[in-house]
Amino acid sequence: MGASNFKVIVVGGGPIGLTAAAIDFPILEHRSHVIADAGSNLVLMLIGLRAISQLDLLDPLNAVSSPLSRIDRLDHDGRDVGDVQFFTQMEKNFGVCPRVISRHDLTRVLYNTLPSHAQQKVLTNKKLSDITPTVDGATVTRADGSSYEGAIVFGADGAHSTVREAMRRLSLGLGSADVNEERPFMTT
Ligand SMILES: Cc1cc2nc3c(=O)[nH]c(=O)nc-3n(C[C@H](O)[C@H](O)[C@H](O)COP(=O)(O)OP(=O)(O)OC[C@H]3O[C@@H](n4cnc5c(N)ncnc54)[C@H](O)[C@@H]3O)c2cc1C
Repeated sequence: MGASNFKVIVVGGGPIGLTAAAIDFPILEHRSHVIADAGSNLVLMLIGLRAISQLDLLDPLNAVSSPLSRIDRLDHDGRDVGDVQFFTQMEKNFGVCPRVISRHDLTRVLYNTLPSHAQQKVLTNKKLSDITPTVDGATVTRADGSSYEGAIVFGADGAHSTVREAMRRLSLGLGSADVNEERPFMTT
């Protein structure tokens, strides 16, 4: 595979997959649309806001998000134990507060501001099921047997990642003992 054929396959059309849309890619997203009311609101912290600013998306995201300037705290009996204002310190020191945004609005802005040629590469209803290494890259396979070839697979398919599972299987198959736990993000 020559340099001009170097293709990255992004699995997952969530916030991370859509941010990766500056590279040449197909994004394989298993939902029917990437703009979805799935998951909770997100707080965009300063590092994320900086990346968003570098992508020139601060204005459209500011229009649909709210600054998080303070947290009011209650104890287990519902008594007011005061507020926390470290976000105002952030604003004083760095010029910006964290911002609260719904996942729907975040993915809408990320998707709608992509150029149309990039939007066409976000392929929905494409659920990855396996990855096979090739001599110069990898083939990713969908449940229906269709496949895509690329130089790199960029796993952006969330906490319960099929890409991570496949990498774990491949490492174990090569005899490596140094692998992730099967479900590294489970908690109680
Ligand atoms: C309750 C809660 C509160 C949170 N609060 C915050 C917060 O305040 N701030 C913050 O930054 N983060 C927060 N997070 C974490 C945040 O949701 C994640 O960091 C963020 O969604 C990660 O984005 P992502 O694109 O990596 O993955 P995801 O948002 O999980 O997106 C993964 C995408 O991949 C797709 N996909 C999955 N499997 C496949 C497959 N096999 N084939 C194809 N596509 C697939 C999914 O449909 C989805 O679109 C919170 C999470 C939870 C659960």
